[in-house]
Amino acid sequence: MVSFFDRKIEFLKGVGPQKAELLNKELGIFKFRDLLQYYPFRYEDRTKFYKIRELNDSLQYVQLIGQFSGFQTVGVGRKQRLVGTFHDDTGALELVWFQGVKWIKSRLTVGVPYLVFGKPTRYGSKMNIAHPEVEVLTEKNKAGSYLHPVYSVTEKLKKKFIDSKAISKMMKLLLVEAVHHIDETLPQHLIDQYRLQDKKTALIQIHFPKDSRTLQYAQYRLKLEELFYVQLRLLKMKISRMDAYPGIRFNNSDLLNKYYNDHLPFELTGAQKRVIKEIYTDFRSGKQMNRLIQGDVGSGKTMVAFLSMLIAIGNETQCAFMAPTEILADQHFNNLKEQARPLGIRVAKLTGSSKQSERKALDVALKAGEIHILVGTHALLEDRVKFQKLGLAIIDEQHRFGVAQRAKLWSKNRSTYPHILVMTATPIPRTLAMTLYGDLDISVIDELPVGRKPIKTYHMTDTKRIQMFGFIEKEIAKGRQVYIVYPLIEESATLDYNHLMDGYEGISRRYPDMPISIVHGRMKPEDKDWEMQRFINKETKIMVATTVIEVGVDIPNASVMVIENAERFGLSQLHQLRGRVGRGAEQSFCILMTGHKLTTEAKERIRTMVETNDGFRISEVDLKLRGPGDLMGTQQSGLMDLRISDLGKDGEILKQARSIAVEVLNEDPEITLSKNYPIKKQIESLSKNVINWSTIS
Ligand code: ADP
Ligand code: MG
Repeated sequence: MVSFFDRKIEFLKGVGPQKAELLNKELGIFKFRDLLQYYPFRYEDRTKFYKIRELNDSLQYVQLIGQFSGFQTVGVGRKQRLVGTFHDDTGALELVWFQGVKWIKSRLTVGVPYLVFGKPTRYGSKMNIAHPEVEVLTEKNKAGSYLHPVYSVTEKLKKKFIDSKAISKMMKLLLVEAVHHIDETLPQHLIDQYRLQDKKTALIQIHFPKDSRTLQYAQYRLKLEELFYVQLRLLKMKISRMDAYPGIRFNNSDLLNKYYNDHLPFELTGAQKRVIKEIYTDFRSGKQMNRLIQGDVGSGKTMVAFLSMLIAIGNETQCAFMAPTEILADQHFNNLKEQARPLGIRVAKLTGSSKQSERKALDVALKAGEIHILVGTHALLEDRVKFQKLGLAIIDEQHRFGVAQRAKLWSKNRSTYPHILVMTATPIPRTLAMTLYGDLDISVIDELPVGRKPIKTYHMTDTKRIQMFGFIEKEIAKGRQVYIVYPLIEESATLDYNHLMDGYEGISRRYPDMPISIVHGRMKPEDKDWEMQRFINKETKIMVATTVIEVGVDIPNASVMVIENAERFGLSQLHQLRGRVGRGAEQSFCILMTGHKLTTEAKERIRTMVETNDGFRISEVDLKLRGPGDLMGTQQSGLMDLRISDLGKDGEILKQARSIAVEVLNEDPEITLSKNYPIKKQIESLSKNVINWSTIS
């Protein structure tokens, strides 16, 4: 027999197969449990009653009590509207309906007390409310004091009359039955210790809150529970992996020391030293390392990666270094080769465009252990890529790779899994990192190499274009180079290309004698490379480009980044783009060009960019503005399957959830204590019902 919560939604009273199909398709509601966990996304406050005199159009929704003194039908045919004059003891206003005129009129009576709910707007000198909700005043609704749940529904659902109200009705029907089946999903000792609402109350209150205080408790309880189970799962994965997978012990640091003493081109920053120590500790622990390095663009992650590889190579193992794009793989390859030369280390490259003939030789050399470091793209994951003994795998720019790919790297050394080091230049807020990478240890490089001047960022509107040109002319006269970047969005690609080309022509006309490069995605790779090379060789002074230069290129002489239509970029993208300059010793600049009219959100993005260079701060704002889903792309979305928590806002609850999970696991690693039985049961239930978990386990 299926349990109550596993019953199909079509079997709920009043739903049936047709509505059920819509609920499946539009909202992902298949079973009773899905509906119950379809939480309101906001609540309308129906606890307060307004007087008509108090109304103004800055109010969102208001509730009024009063009577109609008359109705008027204005206009004819489809333009007909119904206007009711509604008054209380402080004044009168008009309630207007544009649809269902006849039907509504037939249901309203002059002189009867009504409760009205809607959004007041000013129309000429008078206030009115269009399409208000009107109910006959009763003892019950007069008492007010309830918060009205609002469920998000799609247009398609609305057309079939499944609106927020309809969902609420279904919920009521479901809850009446469900209350007899709801079990507690957290152990009593946690409920007591953290003074949590019980599950049954929380579910009832989240859908039909008594008052805002009780609602807050319900939200807190459900969020904490949700995040607790995410953290518990991640921590358990981490623990079990650490127990299950021994790591190769790297005890020899001779090669590292040799490089450190004889060849290191600069003093390491304190943060770099700290992270190397953390890695070396992992290497000697006898357990497999899974570590994430977070650090802003230019913080020197690559050097840390290189030093880690020296330890691995010094202990007779090989290294894999995986980058998200060919350009980036190329650059890492060239840099690593250079750094490795004095040590006699062999570095090879493998990408999708490696020639077959070369690949054969590479396969052989790799298998024989003659290659120490293999740099490349996704191609490294292919089955034919076989190492003699892979000791360390490094993944640059983790957010572009999925967790499954990380797992695939492990299998490159079946006898003992290689150590894994993941690097990301997109700093992620701690709260998000804890969830996304909860199974990894995290190191942070939060310090830039000394002598690096912070990039100065300015915001200019189009009217200041002349000044912007004046500025870049001066910089070019000093021998610097300049990027001018245009947005390129899939949906408006053609238009965007036109802007780019217009921009390029405009600049060419303005500076007829100036050598200018242009790079965009519609060019052939050879042409792109050629243009890129000219810019690198300083043959061209200005690089006009789309975001293809976002990752990869490292040109210290380029000191100005102009971003056109900056309002169209997301924060993390702006930050990444800005990171292309500021790599040399000179003062660098970033100029954000925008139109005059900006949305509140765009303003906040631009302001944040002007205010700070700190990638962590920027990522916090980004998370707040966009929410975690967008921030991470789709690959990790499995982990983002949160029904009530919002990682952008619930950071504090997340921290608490994590520390509770740590506590529980410390005391009861296998969740076998009888007092934790509800946890055990809930984990089992979750793993049956949350499909998305499969992507990470
Ligand atoms: P990331 O990969 O974090 O963006 P990189 O490792 O590419 O940064 O470093 C950026 C630049 O700074 C490189 O040219 C690198 O050689 C240099 N660099 C790294 N660490 C230091 C340091 N401690 N002192 C001075 N320069 C450094
Ligand atoms: Mg880098």
